[in-house]
Amino acid sequence: MRSTALITGGAQGIGRGTVAFLLDRGWRVMVLDCDHQALEELAAERRDDALRVAAVDVGDEDRVAEAFQALRAWQEQDGQPAGLDLLMNNAGIADPVSGPLESLSLEDWRRWQDSHLTGAFLCSRAAVPLLRARQGVIVNIASTRALQSEPHCEAYAAAKGGLLALTHALAISLGPDIRVNAICPGWIETGPWQRRARRSHPQHSQTDRRQHPVGRVGVPEDIAATVAFLASDQAGFITGQQFTVDGGMTCKMIYQD
Ligand code: NAD
Repeated sequence: MRSTALITGGAQGIGRGTVAFLLDRGWRVMVLDCDHQALEELAAERRDDALRVAAVDVGDEDRVAEAFQALRAWQEQDGQPAGLDLLMNNAGIADPVSGPLESLSLEDWRRWQDSHLTGAFLCSRAAVPLLRARQGVIVNIASTRALQSEPHCEAYAAAKGGLLALTHALAISLGPDIRVNAICPGWIETGPWQRRARRSHPQHSQTDRRQHPVGRVGVPEDIAATVAFLASDQAGFITGQQFTVDGGMTCKMIYQD
């Protein structure tokens, strides 16, 4: 039996980097994403029987239910026992800036909450029976912005803070069968992992690099490797925790002149 992961927002960016990381290590991966073009490109570029993609807005209850039915059908068709080893709740509006509070509409506020937090709730709820079948794990992708802020990021910060709270709540409710942890990525360069029309290969300035104690900006593989560790038996004593993966950026004290 091969390990199976479901990754939301896996058509681009950190999610896509994690899809590649796990496929390269023999996992079967199902990707849920709302960007049809990015999904098509992923499926075309990674022709692999171990990969399935589904066009789903993770904030839509019915579409999420359909996607989990499709996952079961795929496993049945391939003679794999029903179950899930990893749910990575990664999808969400990646832009942290929702604008000045006075002009932030309720509709926009809800878009951020639905894509990050409601999506994680709906996918986790749907995944529980499958995760229980394999003693699987949930990894929620939060952000260092759950812990500190720039101006005008209220909707994003609140959604990510909610994900950290959801993480410890789920860990308590779902243990011992299912472990649940969160990762708080810092600055992760996702340009090379976007769909073709948006793909870029930025050169980071010395200032960009130097504000990270490790001397560089992050890459999706940094997060993928942490996800894979948290999904492994070596992490069997870890649940309800949040891990900052930011090259040390949030440890750096800043005194202004
Ligand atoms: P990205 O935009 O490159 O990828 C996000 C993917 O999620 C996209 O393919 C998008 O289509 C999909 N998506 C967005 N809303 C969705 C929805 N409602 N339903 C289904 N799919 C949806 O972004 P990224 O930078 O790779 O970010 C991935 C996650 O990591 C996000 O949760 C983001 O907040 C978080 N994060 C990113 C960084 C960073 O520096 N890149 C830092 C901290 C946290």
